[in-house]
Amino acid sequence: MASACDFLVIGSGIAGLSFALRAAEHGSVVVVTKKGTAESATNYAQGGIAAVLAPGDSFEEHVRDTLVAGAGLCDEAAVRFVVEQGPDAANGLIDLGVRFDRSEAAPGYDLGREGGHSQRRVLHAADFTGREIERVLVERCEAHPDITLLSNRISVDLVTTTKLGLPGPPRVCGAYVLDPETGAVESFRARIVLLATGGCGKTYLYTSNPDIASGDGIAMAFRAGATIANMEFIQFHPTCLYHPDARSFLISEAVRGEGAVLRNRSGEAFMRRYDPRADLAPRDVVARSIDFELKRSGDDCVYLDCTALDPAFARARFPNIYERCLRYGFDLTKQPLPVVPAAHYCCGGVRTDLHGESDLENLFAAGEVACTGLHGANRLASNSLLEGVVFARAAAQAAAHRLAAGIEAPPQFPDWDPGRAVDPTETVLVNANWDEIRRLMWNYVGIVRSDKRLDRARRRIVNLAREIREYYWNVVVTPDLVELRNLVTVAELIVRSASLRHESRGLHYTVDFPQTDPEPRDTLLKAPLPPL
Ligand SMILES: Cc1cc2nc3c(=O)[nH]c(=O)nc-3n(C[C@H](O)[C@H](O)[C@H](O)COP(=O)(O)OP(=O)(O)OC[C@H]3O[C@@H](n4cnc5c(N)ncnc54)[C@H](O)[C@@H]3O)c2cc1C
Repeated sequence: MASACDFLVIGSGIAGLSFALRAAEHGSVVVVTKKGTAESATNYAQGGIAAVLAPGDSFEEHVRDTLVAGAGLCDEAAVRFVVEQGPDAANGLIDLGVRFDRSEAAPGYDLGREGGHSQRRVLHAADFTGREIERVLVERCEAHPDITLLSNRISVDLVTTTKLGLPGPPRVCGAYVLDPETGAVESFRARIVLLATGGCGKTYLYTSNPDIASGDGIAMAFRAGATIANMEFIQFHPTCLYHPDARSFLISEAVRGEGAVLRNRSGEAFMRRYDPRADLAPRDVVARSIDFELKRSGDDCVYLDCTALDPAFARARFPNIYERCLRYGFDLTKQPLPVVPAAHYCCGGVRTDLHGESDLENLFAAGEVACTGLHGANRLASNSLLEGVVFARAAAQAAAHRLAAGIEAPPQFPDWDPGRAVDPTETVLVNANWDEIRRLMWNYVGIVRSDKRLDRARRRIVNLAREIREYYWNVVVTPDLVELRNLVTVAELIVRSASLRHESRGLHYTVDFPQTDPEPRDTLLKAPLPPL
């Protein structure tokens, strides 16, 4: 038998929990989340959340900065919507209890500056802003009588009327969710489903993302029939600590915002050679410049020199980064930090409108899983937490209207059918496939691309996808297998999207098409795709 609720939320980061709190005013909410309740990219966000709050700042400037970063591909309506909702969204978090760093000066908060922003407009809680936001949202959701939070539950697939063989336009009516402890796949029926599963950094060998970021929501939405947009635009964060044990620990862009400088091994502050904005150039420019610099020199890393910052200020402003670097043997107030780029953020995802709704009825998406049009071809720093809150709230409002208008109850659907699946005996296959995908994405579909590399990636991905599909239906479903199946789907979507874009724009840079076309266009993919 299926559990039933009005709103099923998949994911418990800033988007999922913000939606849950709003939606719970209108109906019953179940949140399923893959690991611990707080385990999310949100929890690791350092820099902060952008909003126009300073007296000298304006919506126009935030809009302009976002459009410039987005390299002609932003949907201006989405940009204006997010920017204009910014102060209200930020104040909403403050009202819930989020404690951002205060300042004596107007507007009463210490606003940070980050690359690509023409003004100081980033609210932060030291350098663990995400943890503070997540703490408050989890507390609020846990205390809410109409929200059920189920941790350690991994959503396997969305259930649609099409899959059930029902007539009429396709609509989503729930999801199958695996409880890894019992091995049972539970059915959840819902009038509305919100995907808030975050990004897909784990598609790449090196990433700043936590392990949950395997692109599950994008893959589930794609299989269910929703349109997926602009997957070629993967943002690489320029500065992750280069250390074998650091697992790509991220050094926030805010550090450069406060005056840190990138240097090569000979001590040259090389960014000036690549861009007049030097260390404050947008992320893609900085990541690509580092990539060029490393390829040119053959070095393994470049260095982020923070020694010009006042040591007391650096320790107080970046306590998390300071402590973590110290743990790996680097005192950032005294010596430059070795850094490399790593996959950080997915600008593409499930295509949604200004209400956070996909083109599949009753399916909403918010946060990094969605492609709202805000980021275009490149994300401006600290815009993503903001986007998560703004679209979660918009989606909750639209979903509540839908409920009030008397949306049809979801049909009953059959329990999960394990078919002829047997217990997996070859876990080594899963690990090997996982490793191969991440390595080939890093080597062939990374910061700088070419037709030859994309072609090679495409041929390998096709074989891997076939192998994984065959294996998937023959063994009992496990979290690793669910993620692997999603990872290969997302990898294919990225490779296909990159191959379709015959220009360089924003985060997509290919040596075969260095020009930017005069007419911007989105890359849209929808199942079934033509054979490769
Ligand atoms: C290190 C780091 C620093 C960052 N710093 C900033 C910053 O300063 N400012 C900024 O704006 N952005 C920042 N970002 C980006 C930003 O944090 C994310 O884009 C944002 O938090 C995404 O929020 P979300 O709610 O969409 O997803 P997440 O916060 O990633 O949450 C996704 C949730 O979905 C769950 N989930 C995933 N798959 C499944 C499944 N199959 N079944 C059930 N649950 C599932 C996960 O467990 C998790 O709970 C940073 C990102 C990283 C990694």
